[in-house]
Amino acid sequence: MDVEINSLPEIKKEGLALDIDDTLSWTFGHWIGQMQKLFGNPENLSVEEIMLKYNRAQDVPYWQSKEVKAWRKTNIISNDLQTNLPLIKNSNIFVNKISNIVPLVAYITTRPESVIEGTKTWLRTNDFPNLPIICRPDGIPHENGSEWKAKILENLEQSVKGIVDDNPNLLNFLPSDYKGIIFLYNRHSVNSDLNAIPCKDWETVYEEVKSAFNGFS
Ligand SMILES: [Mg+2]
Repeated sequence: MDVEINSLPEIKKEGLALDIDDTLSWTFGHWIGQMQKLFGNPENLSVEEIMLKYNRAQDVPYWQSKEVKAWRKTNIISNDLQTNLPLIKNSNIFVNKISNIVPLVAYITTRPESVIEGTKTWLRTNDFPNLPIICRPDGIPHENGSEWKAKILENLEQSVKGIVDDNPNLLNFLPSDYKGIIFLYNRHSVNSDLNAIPCKDWETVYEEVKSAFNGFS
């Protein structure tokens, strides 16, 4: 599918963008914990073991029933679920420290636009900076989220100089001449010709942003 970007938000300052799910909030882990409780855990795996074994909750073979799919569909658009997500420890502290090195200009998330209110509440409750939130338009399917986000980054390249994001698949959709820096959170290595930096934790994101943007603002 070729994702069309119809309207772009205006970003006035130059700086860095942030992903939300699994970068700031412990989204995947929270979903898995809920699904284990509701739909069983036949392999008797911990949340972390499931995260390692399966890339996405929709890939877990025993969570494929109609009931599970209906539950997922309801919860993906639930503002309550977004509001109650656990925080990735200290992500808020490092984000605020990073804002002293380089301006933070937007959150760019593949969450659907319908959960923007729950997202705003969660960010505010956890002391994250108040920035524009760019959400996936409801007309773009969840499966095309990485492609959509890459298009947004490409289109905003003049102002958005990079992003902190956990999703390596994003790199597959960015053009080869993309100049922004992808700080790949929660990764030990990265295989790409783009300017992508693996960051095993938030301390590393902070150090890498510091060396990339020293003297920027
Ligand atoms: Mg993410």
